[in-house]
Amino acid sequence: MTLHIGIDIDDTLYSFIDILRPYLNEFTWQNIQFNEITSFRLSDTWNLQIEDVKEIVRKNDLYNIWSISQDIIKKIKWFEEKWHKVSFVTSIFLYNNYNTEIYTKNFLLQHGLHYPLIFSDNKWITCKELDINLFIDDWLHNLKSIILHSPTTKCFSIEKPWNWDREINRIWLSEVELSKITKISSLLEID
Ligand SMILES: [Mg+2]
Repeated sequence: MTLHIGIDIDDTLYSFIDILRPYLNEFTWQNIQFNEITSFRLSDTWNLQIEDVKEIVRKNDLYNIWSISQDIIKKIKWFEEKWHKVSFVTSIFLYNNYNTEIYTKNFLLQHGLHYPLIFSDNKWITCKELDINLFIDDWLHNLKSIILHSPTTKCFSIEKPWNWDREINRIWLSEVELSKITKISSLLEID
C-alpha cells in the first residue's frame, strides 16, 4: 500500500535542540542539560525571547552545523523506493526573518532530500488536507491534535525529554491518546 508519510524536521530528522543547547547556555549563563529540557519551547526552558534564539542561530551559522545522518537520509529514500510519498512538514519557528524558508529548503537539498516542504503551524490541518497516512514528530502536542482531528493519520513520536515534563508546561495525554501514538527512539525504527 502506498502511503503519504509526513515528517517533521527539527528534532525528528536531526538533533536540533541538543546542538543549539550549548549556545543557549552560553548566552544565558546557564548549564541546562538535555534531559532537563522540560519544554519544547526554548523560551520556557532558557527564558529567552524568540528573537534572541534567531540571533544565536544566525550569528553561529547553525544551519551549517546542523546535519542529517546518512542513515536517516537512506531511510527516507527507502520510503520512496517503496513507492511511498514523502513530505516534510515543519512549523514556522524562524520563518519571518533570515529567510528561514530558503535556509530550510537548502538544508534539505544539501542532504539530497528533494521532497515537498510545507510550513505549517497546524500540522493536523496539513495531515487532513494532504491526506497524510503516517506522521512522525518529536512533539506530542502536535501528535495529540493529529489523533484528535485527523484520526486516519497514524502517529509516531520520537522520544524526547520535553514530552515527559512534570512541570507546569507538561503536555498531558490520556492513556487512550497515548495508545494511539507509537513511541520510537528514531525514525530508523519505522518499517
Ligand atoms: Mg520537531
